[in-house]
Amino acid sequence: MKKTKKRSMAKTPPTPTARRPPATSTDNTGAPGARTGARTLATPVSSNAELFERAQRSIPGGVNSPVRAFRAVGGTPRFIARAQGAYMWDAEGKQYIDYIGSWGPMILGHGHPAVLAAVQKAATEGFSFGAPTEREVELAETILALVPSCEQIRLVSSGTEAAMSAIRLARGATGRSKLIKFEGCYHGHADALLVKAGSGLATFGNPTSAGVPPEVVQHTLVLTYNDIEQLEEAFKIHGPELACVMIEPIAGNMNFVRATVPFMKRIRELCTQHGALLVFDEVMCGFRVALGSAQSLYAQAIPGFAPDVSVFGKVIGGGMPLAAFGASRKIMSLLAPLGPVYQAGTLSGNPVATACGLATLREISQPGFFEALGARTRRLVDGLSAAAADAGVPFVGDCQGGMFGFFFPRNRGEGLPQNYATVMATDQARFNSFFHGLLDRGVYLAPALYEAGFVSAAHSDADIDATVAAARAALQP
Ligand code: PLP
Repeated sequence: MKKTKKRSMAKTPPTPTARRPPATSTDNTGAPGARTGARTLATPVSSNAELFERAQRSIPGGVNSPVRAFRAVGGTPRFIARAQGAYMWDAEGKQYIDYIGSWGPMILGHGHPAVLAAVQKAATEGFSFGAPTEREVELAETILALVPSCEQIRLVSSGTEAAMSAIRLARGATGRSKLIKFEGCYHGHADALLVKAGSGLATFGNPTSAGVPPEVVQHTLVLTYNDIEQLEEAFKIHGPELACVMIEPIAGNMNFVRATVPFMKRIRELCTQHGALLVFDEVMCGFRVALGSAQSLYAQAIPGFAPDVSVFGKVIGGGMPLAAFGASRKIMSLLAPLGPVYQAGTLSGNPVATACGLATLREISQPGFFEALGARTRRLVDGLSAAAADAGVPFVGDCQGGMFGFFFPRNRGEGLPQNYATVMATDQARFNSFFHGLLDRGVYLAPALYEAGFVSAAHSDADIDATVAAARAALQP
């Protein structure tokens, strides 16, 4: 196995405990030597609590996306001032090893020099034109070269938009209305997807959000992840009316749960048999679990396997607002301006975002990148498992590429959860205290039991070991 290309980015040493910025720092971020010029130590520093209080006056709940408010774990959200490599610094100058990575996009870590240079160059050339550019063609070509199931791709600005458009496309392609999704999978906040299971297989979903009329979700059937029998039953009843089955193949919105190979194989068979499209939502796991995304892993396990439609986001934008959906040329030709399925976007294929995405994809395509990333993520999960075992705490974890998850089962000997209900039955109180124990020690995990974690190429073995040491301390009774 080849080693990943050595990073030239300057790194600060890992620290298992939080640090204040050095006295010589010229800003309040704690980044040694950082000279942003934006603030100096003479500027009064607002605490996280003060910022949160201020934020709540102007922004609902003080945040622009709900999970950031720390409601699931309690406590005060950290307001991030700056990030570099594997680290973030909050408004108080405290340093964290970052395992959120902006919820997935930052696979290279923060401020990767090649990505930064590409973004800076693109920004000087123009922020947005509302006209086609060569760079968006290049990004489309790059994605298509890595994902053989897609012959064409359309770029959009968020995962929500991409998933919503993929469903419209599937409905347009099949002339059918109904769709299957799985409990615990999140596909963004389009109305038709904010839905929980109805009372049985014959009844469709109920909205999970106020403001979503029941009629809008009346075509969405919500099933249990990894339940083959229920899936077969649903197809028996609704098969001829189904436009698509949408799935996160490795679910990252109920922590980290893989679709089993037999389950995926059966979904593919039933979709083909009944003329429904299989839509892979790889917004989170795409280009994160493998260079060919999760579908390449299922294609290795199931001969001839491919989804019909794929949805991407996060990594393909490298931290900028960019997402995409793709399929065969035949299906994609149904989109406007060629076909009758309408879809558009003012900032779609934005020149700065595409520069960021392209530079990111170039780096992750380096030989050995995913082997090295996967090994580092495995080191983390194994280290956490060992720490929990030594503390006598039931623990299970899993990972693929740069994505991981772990659970505190309520009973010793319980395996990895296979669906949303079993994820949510794990020990939430234990997770919350572990989360805060790590946060206090300078390790920033996702602030909710049901979220996955992310390791980047900027995380060193020393960062992982520092994290495991912090976990050992946090797990002490
Ligand atoms: N699909 C999946 C699998 C996601 O994880 C997310 C967001 O986390 C989305 C869709 C929605 O993406 P966005 O937040 O960019 O709208």
